[in-house]
Amino acid sequence: PNSKVGDGKPRLLLMGQRRSGKSSISSVVFHKLPPSETLYLETTTRIKKESMHSFMDFQVWDLPGHLDYTDPTWDIDVIFGEIGALIWVIDAQDEYLEAIGRLNDTILKLQERYPDINVEVFVHKVDGLSEDYKSDTFRDIIQRVQDELSDNGYENAPVSFYQTSIYDHSIFEAFSKVIQKLIPQLPTLEALLNSLCSTCRIEKAYLFDIMSKIYIATDTSPTDIGSYEICSDYIDVVIDVSEIYGWDRPSENGSSEITETGNNDAESLITMERKGNNYLYLREINKYLALICLMGDDSPAEKKAVIDYNVGVFQAALNQVFPRAEREQLLSPE
Ligand code: GDP
Repeated sequence: PNSKVGDGKPRLLLMGQRRSGKSSISSVVFHKLPPSETLYLETTTRIKKESMHSFMDFQVWDLPGHLDYTDPTWDIDVIFGEIGALIWVIDAQDEYLEAIGRLNDTILKLQERYPDINVEVFVHKVDGLSEDYKSDTFRDIIQRVQDELSDNGYENAPVSFYQTSIYDHSIFEAFSKVIQKLIPQLPTLEALLNSLCSTCRIEKAYLFDIMSKIYIATDTSPTDIGSYEICSDYIDVVIDVSEIYGWDRPSENGSSEITETGNNDAESLITMERKGNNYLYLREINKYLALICLMGDDSPAEKKAVIDYNVGVFQAALNQVFPRAEREQLLSPE
């Protein structure tokens, strides 16, 4: 219900003030730019629409922070009419009162006309802050937004807060939570993953969008960032994304259409190996998605056949979950 569809895909809008980190976030998450190289990115000075060829094919509209989008000459319906979530980036290392003022104005405006849009506040660049300062800042920001909301009678507005940084996994974790709210089939996916976990004594299972390393679902056992990190790193070890997808990266002379020369008949990769006290199992589900499972020591490699079988069952069920049109578009043919 929260995901409005325009071209059939949930759309995210990334906003925030200049230098808050918008370009860096979309480059690191969606284009695999090493975080340290964001230092040399040009700051966002225009509206950028990007289409990403991943599971959800969401768009990030990278709006420059200094534009007054509430200006009546802007067509608010074009901007907000079709988005599922507004991600608002606040630079936690900087003076943030003005940013909060703008955020509050925006939320109030949205509540009047688009109360279903999830507002996802990324309290960003927390890597540079001490633990104490970090949690004080986070609490302060939440308080200032919530006070404003309740003063205006919008206690129940769908506003959530995350602490993020491009220098660790937190930005991926936050994006995962944002995206999951936009997947109507999430409860079914979770139930399928739960059943896979209990059948095969798997500790944690993630369904990853390979390209972005956002997980679109996980089983409902408690998630800790550690298991996400292990699984996410494993994708890098096992799958050389650029090789599989044959991305045309933006060329130096600036012709930057990102086309997918996709390797449709790539054989599904299945692998299992020991890592420390764990076993990791990875299987490509289709062109975009990979299932990654984390198992304890008591799951010896001989169980692989059982897991292979049950993951096959999971895969078949997954193909039932998505409507036909979506499936044809999103899931590669068997
Ligand atoms: P934009 O104007 O909102 O698009 O901001 P940019 O993406 O250009 O980022 C501005 C600066 O913030 C750049 O120098 C980035 O390297 C830096 N930056 C972005 N994200 C982070 C982060 O998570 N931590 C730190 N320490 N710096 C960041």
